[in-house]
Amino acid sequence: MPHSWPAAALTLAALVAALAPHGAGATGNLTLPALPYAENALEPGISAKTVGFHYGTHFKAYATKFNEAAAAAPALLSYSLPGLLANATVDPALPAAARTAARNQAGGFANHASYFRTLGPGAGSSTAPSGQFKDAVDAAFGSTDGMKAALSKAAAGVFGSGWAWLAYAPSSDGGGKLFIETTANQDSPLMAGLGYSGATPVYGIDVWEHAYYADRGPNRTAYIDAVLGSLTNWSAVGENFDAAKAGDVEGALLGKKL
Ligand code: MN
Repeated sequence: MPHSWPAAALTLAALVAALAPHGAGATGNLTLPALPYAENALEPGISAKTVGFHYGTHFKAYATKFNEAAAAAPALLSYSLPGLLANATVDPALPAAARTAARNQAGGFANHASYFRTLGPGAGSSTAPSGQFKDAVDAAFGSTDGMKAALSKAAAGVFGSGWAWLAYAPSSDGGGKLFIETTANQDSPLMAGLGYSGATPVYGIDVWEHAYYADRGPNRTAYIDAVLGSLTNWSAVGENFDAAKAGDVEGALLGKKL
């Protein structure tokens, strides 16, 4: 019996869901988002040289290597980006190499997409948490300074390569809360199947040596101070929070969708 689509009965949303069983929408191949400022815009906190190779070499490589892995395991292309992190990493139907690519390469892609979008030239001097985001910061940490201190301590304490995150977990009463979480390598808080919280990351500090060593040598603390002191775009982080609170995990990773 030939297969036929019940076209009249199938809504577009149902069709998309049927074609992309691993999330709200298939991400397909990963494409590097544009750097939203010049490579030298974060100086003197982070040099143009560091931004150049961090964005142009490291970030780009996560996308390239994911796309190479997806060429060998096309099932990866059917996941949403949150689905790649939360589900593909532990999907027993995928080959081991594909699960590893989802963890390391899609993880690196999502983490760096957030990182570069939530930094900005002098942004920390002109922006601060506001609105519901500030309310959640105050509820969890007492104040913006309390949140920065907790995030700074967590980032300084990451052993080896990894990330310190401000993450948002919804709660059954609709309140939800912000908290600090650290991850190893390119892992994401979304990777619940790998032992993390499953919460939505709204802001992450990359503490891999490639993020600071060329500028600071082993002084990771000086880099963290620069990032939290003047280079964080708290307006962008607040938009991520708003998306996370609305359940739009992809929006929290990649920016507000208009
Ligand atoms: Mn990095």
